[in-house]
Amino acid sequence: MSSPPTGLPALAAKIRRCTWCDLSGSRTHAVPGEGPRNARLVLVGEAPGRNEDAEGRPFVGLAGRVLDEALARAGISRTRTFITNTVKCRPPGNRRPRAKELAACRPYLLAQFAAVRPSAIVTLGQSAAKDVLGPSASLATTRGRWTDFGGTPVLATYHPAAILYNRRLFRILVADLKKARRRMEAA
Ligand code: URA
Repeated sequence: MSSPPTGLPALAAKIRRCTWCDLSGSRTHAVPGEGPRNARLVLVGEAPGRNEDAEGRPFVGLAGRVLDEALARAGISRTRTFITNTVKCRPPGNRRPRAKELAACRPYLLAQFAAVRPSAIVTLGQSAAKDVLGPSASLATTRGRWTDFGGTPVLATYHPAAILYNRRLFRILVADLKKARRRMEAA
């Protein structure tokens, strides 16, 4: 296992060929993430689902529709945001990524942070909060509060898929994204 390359296109190419964990064996397409190198905001989801695996792009299914709606309500342009996941390949049956899969994929996430150098990172859901902020981070304690990752402000919020089960969380997701927008604008 060598270290990942530094530029976003080279990173994406490497991720598409990656065999660092078993998820590579069952994927259709790896999903490196997408967005401009000069994005001020990075969003981190959990893992590609069925639609993302089919298309090779993040958040293009039902949860993606919720995310798009929340971003629009918060006044954030999706195309100016870098969107990625803790793991870049779909876990079979959409199970949670396992610790060794998260560990194998983490160098890619860190390299993406280093390449984009955003003003803020927003983690979506419990898995992403824990992957970025550490295993003791729970949404109950971190959601909606700024924390720090190596000098970059991080805000944990709900995963858009959670809104599919509890629509009342949508308002909170939008409020958290607005908070991130204000932070980006102030940076
Ligand atoms: N859920 C995620 O966490 N990421 C995606 O890309 C799609 C759904």
